[in-house]
Amino acid sequence: MIRRTLSGAELVEKAEACLGEVFKGFEDVALRNQNKVLDAFQASCVGLRHFSPSSGYGYDDMGRDTLGEVFAKGLGTEDALVRPQLMSGTHALAVTLFGLLSPGKELLVATGKPYDTLLETIGVRGDSPGSLKSWGVSYKQIELAETGGIDVEALKRAVSSRTGVVHLQRSRGYAWRGALSVDELEGAIRIVREANSSAFVLIDNCYGEFTEPGEPVGADVLVGSLIKNPGGGIAPTGGYIAGRREALERLAERLSAPGVGREIGSYAGSYQPFYQGFFMAPHVVCQSLKTAALFAKVFEELGMRTHPKSDARRSDIIQAIRFGEPEQLVRFCRSVQSASPIDSFVVPEAWEMPGYEHKVIMAAGAFVQGASIEFSADAPMREPYTAYLQGALTYEHGKLAAIRAAEELLQP
Ligand SMILES: *Cc1c(COP(=O)(O)O)cnc(C)c1O
Repeated sequence: MIRRTLSGAELVEKAEACLGEVFKGFEDVALRNQNKVLDAFQASCVGLRHFSPSSGYGYDDMGRDTLGEVFAKGLGTEDALVRPQLMSGTHALAVTLFGLLSPGKELLVATGKPYDTLLETIGVRGDSPGSLKSWGVSYKQIELAETGGIDVEALKRAVSSRTGVVHLQRSRGYAWRGALSVDELEGAIRIVREANSSAFVLIDNCYGEFTEPGEPVGADVLVGSLIKNPGGGIAPTGGYIAGRREALERLAERLSAPGVGREIGSYAGSYQPFYQGFFMAPHVVCQSLKTAALFAKVFEELGMRTHPKSDARRSDIIQAIRFGEPEQLVRFCRSVQSASPIDSFVVPEAWEMPGYEHKVIMAAGAFVQGASIEFSADAPMREPYTAYLQGALTYEHGKLAAIRAAEELLQP
């Protein structure tokens, strides 16, 4: 299957030469998003004073509050909570689910099996005493249609007066499916609104930010992680919840405590990396998209199946590559690790990660621990042995890593 006539470097050059149009598309998206983010900074009159740390309760912390404003404007929502106290994407999603749902209500996930780490939060897996299930929230899941899109008819049928939240996951996560486009998500939101105007619509926007010229409009909340796209590789931790003011008021009370809501929350470090990361994010996402398309093209040439294809439109930064057998998958992940700036000397092994169902092998040589806007790969050790590659702070790094990965897999 694998052709050995070219070296890794030649193969990558050849692949890159085919991708001019594709890259131009990503750059156009980045330009439009950069413009929006720049406007957001200027409209909020961001100054050096916003970077100052705060302490204690954090009353009147203007660095924190203005950061929320900038995110809201940049993402096109009414309001946003952006906090280092949102510890990860999963935590931001759990705060949102518990904040918008109540016992007796139903959570409806309309995009197939949700991201692995949410299964225990919902109570689909395990018997955590803190799950939504244990709290009396029921769960319904609609599989994606054969075409890979949302099953619109099933969604219409499934929304009822009990539906408290309709959850839509934009990214493919660890699944062999496409990311849902902003258009498609907006179509689904309209359907939910018609069927039950009081249900909240939540979009798990992880990995999707800035991959298209705008974020989905009309949802109650968009939720994501700052060690992915919107942190631009610079934010050291945190998450965001952006959306309608009414929903965010409820969620602020869930995040801190009823009565104090968004008024508290201090940060003894500087807010500067959060602002700078958001400013960098459209560009860094573009670097990641180019890296993803390059890997897709190279591995297509090597005879692997890829999802999305190298020339596809994208709505997340993830590139799935199917190896079909464990040995090549492990070699691939090790080559990703060894091409990283940090911990390049470490040899990844598959392990039981908290929140995941199968053993996972992870290549993560990142400046920020676990940051997947940085060049990284994850692969659950299960058939058909698919690696999910994401991130790259610079395309040049992505390209060098592609050369090394190709060299590795060209070896017998
Ligand atoms: C990463 C991710 C999450 C969880 O975020 P963590 O920061 O890893 O907790 C949830 N949903 C999707 C689609 C993700 O990609």
